[in-house]
Amino acid sequence: MKIAEIHIYSHALPVKNGPYRMASASVWSLDTTLVKMITDGGLVGWGETCPIGPVYQPQHAGGARAALAEIAQGLIGADPLQPLLLHRRMDGLLNGHRYAKAAIDIAAHDLMGKAWGMRVADLLGGAVTDRVPSYYASGVGEPDEISRIAAERAAEGFPRMQVKVGGRPVEVDIEVIRKVWERVGTKMRLAVDGNRGLTTRDALRLSRECGDIPFVLEQPCNTIEEIAAIRGQVHHGIYLDENGEDLNTILRVVGAGLVDGFGMKLTRIGGLRPMTVFRDICEVRSLPHTCDDAWGGDIIAAACTHIGATVQPRLNEGVWIAQPYIEGHYDAANGVKIEGGHIKLPKGPGLGITPDEGLFGMPVMSFG
Ligand SMILES: [Mg+2]
Repeated sequence: MKIAEIHIYSHALPVKNGPYRMASASVWSLDTTLVKMITDGGLVGWGETCPIGPVYQPQHAGGARAALAEIAQGLIGADPLQPLLLHRRMDGLLNGHRYAKAAIDIAAHDLMGKAWGMRVADLLGGAVTDRVPSYYASGVGEPDEISRIAAERAAEGFPRMQVKVGGRPVEVDIEVIRKVWERVGTKMRLAVDGNRGLTTRDALRLSRECGDIPFVLEQPCNTIEEIAAIRGQVHHGIYLDENGEDLNTILRVVGAGLVDGFGMKLTRIGGLRPMTVFRDICEVRSLPHTCDDAWGGDIIAAACTHIGATVQPRLNEGVWIAQPYIEGHYDAANGVKIEGGHIKLPKGPGLGITPDEGLFGMPVMSFG
């Protein structure tokens, strides 16, 4: 089987009741990039990558498309059923830019599943559940608002909530955490996500003044060095998110015992193949982690749900998808959605999503 054509689409995903606020940015609309891969036999696979604006990470939408433009022609003729060789071929065409390569990797897995009549989750080792836990991420907000949202999500059945903090006086963040804890207690597991926005001073104070509240502190500070500096002084488990850029960094922080788990984005690590390596490293060291999309629509949400379904349940911190924040679906019948705090695993074959291509307009680039 050979890749015969690759088409790249750009598609706008407006944020419902926007903006979505984090320590570093407010986001009104996302610019997602879709990849349609067609084989010489006419099979079609879809991939997607959608950075959340240009400042959350070094990745951005224009960068994804520039990187895809650099590699796509060189992938024509490659076998999509050989993901290891496909990744080596991509690395031979362009250094880095894993988030762009992820869209190719996801499309290849969709094709593999369709070629062999298997769900992507089964290609990745086997699904342990058809109902994958999700979690809710609040934006940075006021104490009354966030605690009300927390109570609603707990009642809906979310097993976990992530409270965003940072970018303002730490006293307000501490008040938010206390109010959430008073409202929901142990009904949901809690993560407090600084999105790199806290100083070590404020992260230490936040952990100290909330010493009685069980949560994990996700990416409180900007760098691994800052996290290492506070590591021995905080009362809470520490997860790495944004700094977990690649497998080498994962090996480094796991080897040094710097973290207790991860928030991981499928596109940041480079797609489903490197994500399975990451999953397996975490299982060896009993480190819990998420399987998140950055943002994006049904394609990326399905990919995250498939890998999320394979994670050992005691280590599964959930699959975050952007669906609650965006209108509509690419696939009206099989679109991926969160119900009762969980996501039903798409049936497949492949990702199990058939997008309505009319939504995407004409490709911005085509190769073949
Ligand atoms: Mg995070």
